[in-house]
Amino acid sequence: MQPGLKFSCRLLLFFPLLLIACGSPKGDSRKSKAKATVYFLKGDPKEMIRGTSPDPESFITLDNLQQWQGFGIREFEMYRSKNLTQSEVNSQADLEAANSTSAPNQDEDKVSGFEDYQFVKTETGYDYRTNTSGFEKFPVFHFSLRNNRLELTGVRDLPLQAIHYSYAANGRSLSILASAQDPEYGWELIAITFSRNPKSIPRIFAGVTPYEYLLGTGIEAKWNKPANFLLCGISDPKVQTDIRAGIDAWSLATKSAPGSIGSLRYQITVAEVAKPFTDLNQNCITYVQNYRFEKQEEYVELGHTKVLFDPETLDILDTHVFLFPDAVRRAAQSSLIPTATHEIGHALGLGHEFRRDPKTGVILYPSVMGYDGIETITRWDIKAVLSLYPIENKVVF
Ligand SMILES: [Zn+2]
Repeated sequence: MQPGLKFSCRLLLFFPLLLIACGSPKGDSRKSKAKATVYFLKGDPKEMIRGTSPDPESFITLDNLQQWQGFGIREFEMYRSKNLTQSEVNSQADLEAANSTSAPNQDEDKVSGFEDYQFVKTETGYDYRTNTSGFEKFPVFHFSLRNNRLELTGVRDLPLQAIHYSYAANGRSLSILASAQDPEYGWELIAITFSRNPKSIPRIFAGVTPYEYLLGTGIEAKWNKPANFLLCGISDPKVQTDIRAGIDAWSLATKSAPGSIGSLRYQITVAEVAKPFTDLNQNCITYVQNYRFEKQEEYVELGHTKVLFDPETLDILDTHVFLFPDAVRRAAQSSLIPTATHEIGHALGLGHEFRRDPKTGVILYPSVMGYDGIETITRWDIKAVLSLYPIENKVVF
C-alpha cells in the first residue's frame, strides 16, 4: 500500500564527442533506504527552496501521533554544495546502465519485511525509530515537543532544523524537509519521506505492452485523475512559455484535444508562491537557478523528475519536476523545451527508452525518452503515452 518514489532525469554527458543522455538513478523505488542519497554540486542548495513558503498548519502533534506508526522510509535525500569530482561514469554504456528504468531489481525478493517506525517517548521528546530485526542501521529521528507539536530536531547525531511538514492527502505518506549544518559541506537540505508499510510486499506484474514505463517495460504507473501542473515560483514569461511548450508537445504529438494527452486531462497553472518541493500535495515544476545535481565534471543533469505512486494501484499521486537552467546553459542547449518534454514524459509515467540491438548497438526505438539526442516526440513515444492514456473511439452516428 505504500506509495513508491521514482526518480528520473535528463543528463548530458561530456566526452570527446558530445552525447546527449538522460537518466534516473537506479534503485528500487519501493524499497526503503537506510542511507541518504546525496546530491551535490557547485551552488547553493538554498536555491532548491527559493521563493517557497512552508505550510504553517502541518505539524506532527500529540493528537495525530498514532497516524504515523508503522511507517517506513521511502525517500532520504541530502542536497549539498560540493565541488565536482572526476568520473564515476566513463561511457555512454555506463550512463545508460546506471540510469535504466528496466534493470531488474535483484534485491526485491530478498526483502523479508519492512522497517516499522514508531514514535517512542524519550527524556527530551520522542524518537522515531525502528526496532525491526534487520533494520538496525536505519536512522533514528529525534523530535522535541514544543506547544503540543513534535519538531524534528535531529537524525542520528546530526542536529536538524525542520522547515516543512507535509501529509499526503490519502494519509499514507509524510514528508519532512529540514536543514543541517554539515562540518564539511556547510548548509544542506535534507528531505525525508515516510509512508505506511503494506501488509506484504506488493507484487507488480508486467503488462503486455512493450513500452518502457517508469517501473519497467509494460508496467503501467499512470495518472488516474487529471494532472494539474503548477509552474511553481516561475515568473519569467519566456520560461513559462517553454515549459508550457514542453507539456503541450505531448498533446499536439498525440493529436489530442487541447488540455488533453490522450484520455488524460491536464491543466497548467502558474503558482507564484508554492510550498517547498517536498510537499506531497502539489505537482510542481520548478526552475532551479544556481544549483545543479551533477557529481562529476563529465555530465550535466538538465532536469530531474520525482514521481510518487501507489505500488498497489499504480496510481501516480504526485510529481515534481526540476529544471536546471545553468545546466542547460552549460550544455549549450539552445532551448529548455526538449528537457521539459523529456521530464514531462517521466511525469506522465514514461521511463527511459535505451534498448539497442545487442549486435549492432543501434537504438531500437528512437525516443525523446532516450539518450541519443532526440529532442522531439517520436512515433514510439506517441504509442507509448497513448497506451497509458488511450483515446476512446468516438461513436459516430
Ligand atoms: Zn530521464
